[in-house]
Amino acid sequence: MALSIEAARHAVLAEVQPLPTEEVPVRDALGRVLAEDVAAAGDVPAFANSAMDGFAVRAGAAGRTLRIVGESRAGAPAATAVGEGEAIRISTGAAMPEGADGVLQLERVTDDGDEITLDEDVKPGLNVRPAGDDLRAGDVVLPAGTRLGAAELGLAVACGRARVTCARVPRVAILATGDELVAAGEPLAPGQIHETNGLTVGALATQAGARLTRVAVVRDTEEETRAAIAAALEDADVVVLSGGVSVGPHDHVKPALDALGVREVFWRVALRPGRPTWFGTRGQTLVFGLPGNPVSAMVTFMLFARPAIAALQGASPEAPRVTARLAAPIPRHPDRDECVRVMLRNGVATPTGPQGSHQLRSMLRADGLAIVTSGSGDAEAGTEVEVELLA
Ligand code: AMP
Ligand code: MG
Repeated sequence: MALSIEAARHAVLAEVQPLPTEEVPVRDALGRVLAEDVAAAGDVPAFANSAMDGFAVRAGAAGRTLRIVGESRAGAPAATAVGEGEAIRISTGAAMPEGADGVLQLERVTDDGDEITLDEDVKPGLNVRPAGDDLRAGDVVLPAGTRLGAAELGLAVACGRARVTCARVPRVAILATGDELVAAGEPLAPGQIHETNGLTVGALATQAGARLTRVAVVRDTEEETRAAIAAALEDADVVVLSGGVSVGPHDHVKPALDALGVREVFWRVALRPGRPTWFGTRGQTLVFGLPGNPVSAMVTFMLFARPAIAALQGASPEAPRVTARLAAPIPRHPDRDECVRVMLRNGVATPTGPQGSHQLRSMLRADGLAIVTSGSGDAEAGTEVEVELLA
């Protein structure tokens, strides 16, 4: 019996040993996954400061005329305090002078050069950003397992860090098998096709945070298949094969893996597209044998390899899911759950077009994979389905 999607994913994750960690300069850490909690070293902002260009004053009523006794600029706090009847010229982000507890913006005072008259009341705290307004000293701002995007990099630095401890980047090798495969841009002889899985699956691996050690095309002979896999196993944490995992006379992947001591964990998942998916391990190296059809290769990579690459880095392997209603009826497969590529809008899932496993175009505009469970008859329009988001 073929495994369910969930059971197969579980079997993959059970084999993952998180990778060792290393220190990384924050400026090089985009896309990396934290292996430590990052906490704020101090309050951010560290000092109360002005939210406006204006005058720092003591709170009080409108109509007061105040003498300008100094200036507080960003990076250059005022040397004096603000007393009764006094004001200090202040810029956005500049430290609040002692004695002042409010800021009136430039546009709301009448400026006579040495003096100002307040056009409005100033309540305590007006236009003041208190210390710790964003982060409090000791706050765990970025927990271990966080993937570092643009905002996270900024926050790591705001926490006082120049370096962070991250999981090592997973190394992924991609081997596309098939005698029919021709490199991009090359003319096609009869029966040939352009090789796309190396590119699509390689791109998905890169987006998952991996570094590609090799992307190669492998001819359909047992010797070449075995030699290519042996080489890939030398320096990869994950080897991803496409094609050649079925039972045809030119499918050499399974015997080659067996000969190289890669232990099979499962073969076949009750899934469409992607039934012949193979997974195994040698030591800590994970090996995926993905079906060759271009959609099958992408879908099975996203369902099984991407969570493993996340888990290797200590990130959550969970793909975000939403529920949505089908826009159109979809015939249920009798014994396989189907991943229908759908666009999502207002909670409605609309198939992207014809859904053949060879129709790569069905991936265009897809927001997610709607999982239409196996059974008889149609999943009617309006049926609630789980959608695994692609982004
Ligand atoms: P296979 O799993 O090797 O039987 O291949 C299934 C289908 O996918 C065949 O139509 C292949 O031509 C096609 N295919 C296999 N590998 C690739 C690839 N790397 N790029 C594009 N199509 C492929
Ligand atoms: Mg093939």
